[in-house]
Amino acid sequence: MSYNNENIFAKIIRGEIPCKKVYEDDHLLAFHDIQKAASTHILLIPKKPYCSFNDFSLNASPEEISRFFKTAQLIAEENDLSKTGYRLVTNHGNDAMQTVHHFHLHILGKDTLGNFTSNN
Ligand code: AMP
Repeated sequence: MSYNNENIFAKIIRGEIPCKKVYEDDHLLAFHDIQKAASTHILLIPKKPYCSFNDFSLNASPEEISRFFKTAQLIAEENDLSKTGYRLVTNHGNDAMQTVHHFHLHILGKDTLGNFTSNN
């Protein structure tokens, strides 16, 4: 899949649509998910155009990948999730029902999250 510059997160990065910002630096942006699946539901994205985790892990540098996951931990810490627990989720592709095709990591917490269950 090629990257589409008109996806909603590209528009958020460009400042064309607003977000509830949690964290920003030169490389990364984090903001609250518009449709919360937990009491705290933050999305962390790289500013560079990667379609999904698959694209990111294949094409980002080791430094970018390391910075991304270190920052996920920092955001969890700063949002008071480290002690009680949190879940990281990223969806790649149709079977995972990825809806926004700009790589993002869901950081979920502040509730007891359910077990993963199979739909099959
Ligand atoms: P995924 O299904 O993994 O692609 O997740 C996309 C996520 O983006 C969903 O949880 C949506 O609720 C969220 N989302 C879509 N539009 C916005 C927006 N404008 N601001 C914040 N979150 C959004």
